[in-house]
Amino acid sequence: MNIHEYQAKEILNAYGIPVPRGRVALTSDQVERASKEMGGRCVIKAQIYAGGRGKAGGVKLVHHPEQAQEFGKELFGKRLVTPQTGPEGLKVRRILVEEAVEIAREFYLSITLDRESSRYCLIASAEGGVDIEEVARKSPDKIHMLAIDPYTALRPYQARKVALALGLTGSVCEDCVELILNLYRCCLEKDCQLVEINPLVVTRAGWLLAMDAKITFDDNAVFRHREYPDMMDYSQLDPLEINASKYDLAYIKLQGNVGCMVNGAGLAMATLDVLKEFGAEPANFLDVGGGATREKVAEAFKIILEDCDVKGVFVNIFGGIMRCDIIAQGIIEAAAEVKCLLPIVVRMDGSKVEEGKKLLLDSGLNVQCADNLGDGAERIVRMLG
Ligand code: ADP
Repeated sequence: MNIHEYQAKEILNAYGIPVPRGRVALTSDQVERASKEMGGRCVIKAQIYAGGRGKAGGVKLVHHPEQAQEFGKELFGKRLVTPQTGPEGLKVRRILVEEAVEIAREFYLSITLDRESSRYCLIASAEGGVDIEEVARKSPDKIHMLAIDPYTALRPYQARKVALALGLTGSVCEDCVELILNLYRCCLEKDCQLVEINPLVVTRAGWLLAMDAKITFDDNAVFRHREYPDMMDYSQLDPLEINASKYDLAYIKLQGNVGCMVNGAGLAMATLDVLKEFGAEPANFLDVGGGATREKVAEAFKIILEDCDVKGVFVNIFGGIMRCDIIAQGIIEAAAEVKCLLPIVVRMDGSKVEEGKKLLLDSGLNVQCADNLGDGAERIVRMLG
């Protein structure tokens, strides 16, 4: 689960991590007033669930409140396209107005869950404010990584080693040690999957500040934090994704035109691979999970059909726990409800497969049943061609 930069900064601040003074605005008049409070000169930052805003025109230094208001007007409602948003971009509905800071040096600092070691991993680099993946590719020696032992936790000497590796000395180095330890505490207590400060800066006056902050909460731990659901900004999510999560379905939007309904993440990956192998481009995939009911299959099918990029549907389900006749009923019910005329290919296997196929073929839908995955992919390509 993602939150906005201003919310992440509020959390960091509560953990004693210094952040620039700022205010969140919902209208351009509020942007103007907040700018006045900051003394006119300030930085206007679009709040979207993606980074790379600076280069996309979503972060700007302004010099007086009228200029702040003008830029606010320009930004509100605009779709910002950054390398992290996809081509359709994300709409700006909130703006952070922040004091302008004189930056002396920029660093990268984050703690994230490392799946390989199953531990929190601290990542730091003296090359801050830039694309960290690029630094990792071009000069991996500039990145310092530390896997944190959950039993001993992060020790002050380890944090000091990182601060020294960033080239910090004296009181700033000690401030950085404290900041790193606080960041780890925040990560644990707030059940974060990622806490990232990029850039962490040293100001001209010699203070450490978190200039940008990104926090992703671990979805599996959201139930432990009652306040998290209210922190979500649903306007930043794909409405179909929100709908799918209501029914406990995993939905991922992709760029092609074949909607895919599968059960299980492994089968989903295999389905996408085989479709591509046969020259088709998946528009999305929707995982209905293990023991889906007829209603759940019907909802899943409707969500797939709501995506206007979908020109055909490929259903690939292995009915182990699920019965194939129930899957077929779900498909028929949903297709009838939304009056679906699109080509559908169903590849299913398992319990009551013959009954399921018969129901589909007798349904009057534009449907074909496939014998196996390759046959199914070939059929949907042919039906779309
Ligand atoms: P993004 O990573 O989405 O591009 P950032 O928050 O990192 O957004 O902002 C981009 C750049 O703008 C930063 O690297 C920093 O140089 C500058 N910047 C951001 N906030 C401020 C601020 N309050 N004062 C001065 N410069 C800032």
